[in-house]
Amino acid sequence: MKQSVLFTKAKREAPKDEEAINAQLLIRAGFIDKLMAGVYTFLPLGLRVLKKIEDIIREEMEAIGGQEILMPTLQPKNNWAQTGRWETYDSLFKFTSFYSKNEYVLGPTHEEIVSPLMKNFIFSYKDLPLYVFQIQNKFRDEKRAKSGLLRGREFLMKDLYSFHRDENELDKYYEKVKAAYFRIFKRVGLGKLTVLTFASGGTFSKYSHEFQTLSPVGEDKIYLCEKCQVAINQEIMHAKSAPPPTASAMQTRPYEYISSCPKCGNKNLKKERAIEVGNIFKLKTKYSSPFNLKYRDEKGEEKEVIMGCYGIGLTRLMGTIVEVYHDDKGIIWPKSVAPYQVHLINLGKFDKTKKFADKIYHSLSAYGRSTVGRQKNNIEILYDDRQEVSAGEKLIEADLIGIPYRLIVSEKTGKRIEIKKRNEKKMKLVREKELVKLLNH
Ligand code: ATP
Ligand code: MG
Repeated sequence: MKQSVLFTKAKREAPKDEEAINAQLLIRAGFIDKLMAGVYTFLPLGLRVLKKIEDIIREEMEAIGGQEILMPTLQPKNNWAQTGRWETYDSLFKFTSFYSKNEYVLGPTHEEIVSPLMKNFIFSYKDLPLYVFQIQNKFRDEKRAKSGLLRGREFLMKDLYSFHRDENELDKYYEKVKAAYFRIFKRVGLGKLTVLTFASGGTFSKYSHEFQTLSPVGEDKIYLCEKCQVAINQEIMHAKSAPPPTASAMQTRPYEYISSCPKCGNKNLKKERAIEVGNIFKLKTKYSSPFNLKYRDEKGEEKEVIMGCYGIGLTRLMGTIVEVYHDDKGIIWPKSVAPYQVHLINLGKFDKTKKFADKIYHSLSAYGRSTVGRQKNNIEILYDDRQEVSAGEKLIEADLIGIPYRLIVSEKTGKRIEIKKRNEKKMKLVREKELVKLLNH
């Protein structure tokens, strides 16, 4: 992609109405644009990042048998009344049709849609287990949408739902999803910072599990066992340093409070701030029951379907990556989710240098599209070919955008190319032939 064609331009100033680093950097660098609090447009660079995250998640969901669907965002009140959540779900966007006076919901999650949907497809034990997922915009009327992509009122989520014959089958699949989630967080570059966290299980399970990425800007407080890399969310923590659960909380939230590492019993836990990037739940019959979602077992007996649900916020994940990977100059994208892997910059003034830069752009692009066996080389290049922009400005913008490899061609570098990683100071002058090998590292 030639930067002379890219319609977005980096901004010098941070937006005045954004407190969060992720939003400031992403807006300045031209990845997103703010429409209103918690609602953003994804611009070409931002959409590329989001699609990379999406591809990784889709691959891992399909690897554990997930079949992709797309459910409606516009939903009738009735489905929500049936589970009682029309009244109790506190961030529900509700509205009334001007013409029919019917009431609707903009979907914040899809248990109310997927459970009745599956009544059309699940009849016997032979139809189970079954796993469906979608990647879709969700709507939540969040009170405080001040954290940029971390807390949107419209945001992209992957939600997977599983349907089982019994709890044993659910338990096994739940562990598979857990492993897939760890693979996802590792692949997007957050593996080492993301810990499995015991959280409230709601009314049907003892616990749910959150995937929490350690970050000082996180809204969640967790207690981490450094030995096991497992944490407890403060909301279910029963300890001196956390507010003790009140009697009424114990009554309305029947899940268990814990005070030590659930794996090793360690009581010496470290209080950390973290961002909840994923959450997995054993729903059991919480939603199959109100929708009467049943199947016939081998003996012909009717039984309730057992369910699980598993969410990851893609846009929140993107914001989290920026919170974790940036410096005072800008974003530092991990290679797997970077909008492009290579930022080629022509700093030359003369035609000869421009021609050399053009040649590198074309040969690297051709290489990037070519395949070795069945594997695509997948090197994508952003080429700063702009003539009217100063060298200084180009370099500032490159650091702000944060592409992993920077290549510079100029009168000074001559027939060679300067290569530098965004997260390193060290630069190297190389010949064109050597480039490909270096970029593959
Ligand atoms: P939170 O406690 O942060 O409000 P939640 O527990 O209500 O989140 P879930 O219903 O578990 O969220 O949603 C699944 C995933 O969707 C979360 O783990 C998170 O990654 C993402 N998510 C939830 N709410 C938002 C939001 N407002 N903006 C962006 N992502 C979100
Ligand atoms: Mg959650």
